[in-house]
Amino acid sequence: MAENILVIGGGPAGLNAATMLSELGVKVTLAERDSFLGGNPKKFKYKFLFPDMQPADDVIGKLIKKAETNSNIKVYLSSEVSDFKENGKKFDATIKSPDGNETKTFDSVIVATGFEHFDPARDAKYSYQLFDDVIDIKDLERMMGEGNFVRPSNGQPPKNVAFILCVGSRDRHVGNQYCSRVCCTVSVKQAIELREHFPDCEVYIFYMDIRTYGFFEDLYWKAMEEYDVQIVKGRVAEITSGENNTVICKGEDTLLRGPFEIPFDMVVLASGMEGGPQSSEMAKKLGLELDEHGFLKPQNVTLAPFKSNKEGVFLAGACTGPKAISDSITEGGAAAMDAYIYAVKNH
Ligand SMILES: Cc1cc2nc3c(=O)[nH]c(=O)nc-3n(C[C@H](O)[C@H](O)[C@H](O)COP(=O)(O)OP(=O)(O)OC[C@H]3O[C@@H](n4cnc5c(N)ncnc54)[C@H](O)[C@@H]3O)c2cc1C
Ligand code: SF4
Repeated sequence: MAENILVIGGGPAGLNAATMLSELGVKVTLAERDSFLGGNPKKFKYKFLFPDMQPADDVIGKLIKKAETNSNIKVYLSSEVSDFKENGKKFDATIKSPDGNETKTFDSVIVATGFEHFDPARDAKYSYQLFDDVIDIKDLERMMGEGNFVRPSNGQPPKNVAFILCVGSRDRHVGNQYCSRVCCTVSVKQAIELREHFPDCEVYIFYMDIRTYGFFEDLYWKAMEEYDVQIVKGRVAEITSGENNTVICKGEDTLLRGPFEIPFDMVVLASGMEGGPQSSEMAKKLGLELDEHGFLKPQNVTLAPFKSNKEGVFLAGACTGPKAISDSITEGGAAAMDAYIYAVKNH
């Protein structure tokens, strides 16, 4: 058996796809654009993962180790596919790496190029980049991962913090009408971590709807009942500077039907997930379709969710839409099975 399969992207989805294929005896080429494996959880130094607060380093570290120590997987870091052509039922791809260009023929391909974080600076009402103490959930993950959990403006612990949900998601004004699925749960998880770290710090979450779907709802109840997180149905319309180095959230409490104006030490924006430029780049290079939201489009979302419009090219993880790590890992395995079947049939 000598099937050769190309996996593009070394995040949770790509790592699991590569490992599953290698266990079937397939030779895998794994091309990762960054200089390290692990995808967004590694890049932004996630600390603990929802739902069960497992240390991210343990979970992602295990996935990386499995791929790095497997003799069937050749990992190319700081590398991209520079040229891609169909060759009958197979594919000729050139991997551009710091060691030069290498062209190989592959029996099938898995695209697992993931997502980009919405940049909150695109919506002026959030004053991101204007005030040091307005950050977003990926910034907070990084700060927690680095053990540097203080107000950026003065290095002091915050006395009160506001989370604002649905930043860059469910918002036609910025062009993203979809829900990013994970940001409610990430915010609730981070609110709990903040309260654990700074028991005297008050934490508010301003929401339109709370979508801690499935069993993630347990975290929502835990945040309210065990950690006294204040969860307020309201829209923040503006963030301005306040007295004593605070930032003011102005908006409307939609249950009490009244305006509010509250000064906070820190504001955390729950930025959503986007397909990002890598999805359009993959679409262009490999001849794949994008959906109306800018993610890669499966052939059939129900019957063939891991097949792309191009026979022999498969999709896994957040490149097809927002999702949690467990779903991304599961999709990596499922796409590996599809890619393997195609490769064996056409070898
Ligand atoms: C702030 C935040 C916190 C989160 N916390 C959790 C959590 O606690 N628990 C949970 O279950 N989920 C969490 N998630 C969701 C989680 O990040 C995703 O489910 C997961 O990262 C998706 O994995 P992926 O492999 O599909 O994509 P990614 O993690 O995005 O990895 C894709 C990889 O592909 C690479 N790549 C991109 N383009 C190319 C290219 N052209 N060539 C080569 N390589 C390329 C990238 O560099 C990256 O390494 C969180 C999300 C956010 C926004
Ligand atoms: S998961 Fe929550 S914060 Fe994220 S877009 Fe959906 S409703 Fe908004």
